[in-house]
Amino acid sequence: MTAPTILVTNDDGIHSEGLRALAEALAPVGEVTVVAPDRERSAAGHALTLHRPLRASETAPRWYRVDGTPTDCVTLAIMGMLKSRPRLVVAGINLGANLGDDVTYSGTVSAAMEGTLLGIPAFAISQAGGASFDFTAAAAFARRLATLLLEQGLPPDTLLNVNVPAAPPERILEVALTRQGRRAYRESIVEKLDPRGKTYYWIGGSEPEWERLGDSDYDAVMAGKISVTPLHLDLTHYEALRALRAWEERLRG
Ligand code: MN
Repeated sequence: MTAPTILVTNDDGIHSEGLRALAEALAPVGEVTVVAPDRERSAAGHALTLHRPLRASETAPRWYRVDGTPTDCVTLAIMGMLKSRPRLVVAGINLGANLGDDVTYSGTVSAAMEGTLLGIPAFAISQAGGASFDFTAAAAFARRLATLLLEQGLPPDTLLNVNVPAAPPERILEVALTRQGRRAYRESIVEKLDPRGKTYYWIGGSEPEWERLGDSDYDAVMAGKISVTPLHLDLTHYEALRALRAWEERLRG
């Protein structure tokens, strides 16, 4: 039997050490092809490039860099570049956590989401950290999860968002299944003057704060556990949909 094809990408760019750690971790469980942005595209969200051509070049055997977003990479790889359809899409290892509401900004999570949209099991994996990153625990977990997903698949329209705490690998022992956390939006916008006297703004000047939900991705990572959150592509709020029925007449005018 031939090894299953695994597509690996990220949003930190093709030169990220997290990408290399992930590709190396998954090599024993499948044939890894890397298709990644040529530069950092963190917080690119689910952006797709539609108004200019995209170029891909092979930098090493089965390593391709693309001058586009993480979502571009996954789309190009699956719809065009790869000879066979991958059995798994994995994005990461991101340098920094992707928790709670941040998943909507995250290029890492969006890349995995694109795999899910195209009907392929996918997960995103991010390493919390500060000045430096140790990918030992994240790489080992990525390999274990990839093995499991290649065997079991995932329910339709579902992806997994994995976050690994910033702790020495030997101290990361537990895995928690969690729900998406909530950011407390108190972060500041920094407003300053540039050297020519014009105002500029900088988003995210302070460390984000989080609501303590008890069972969220944030709570797990803070407790030193690897967090696994299943995310669903259907963002419909069904309870609200039922509640809105009461407005139906008025919405029609
Ligand atoms: Mn990133």
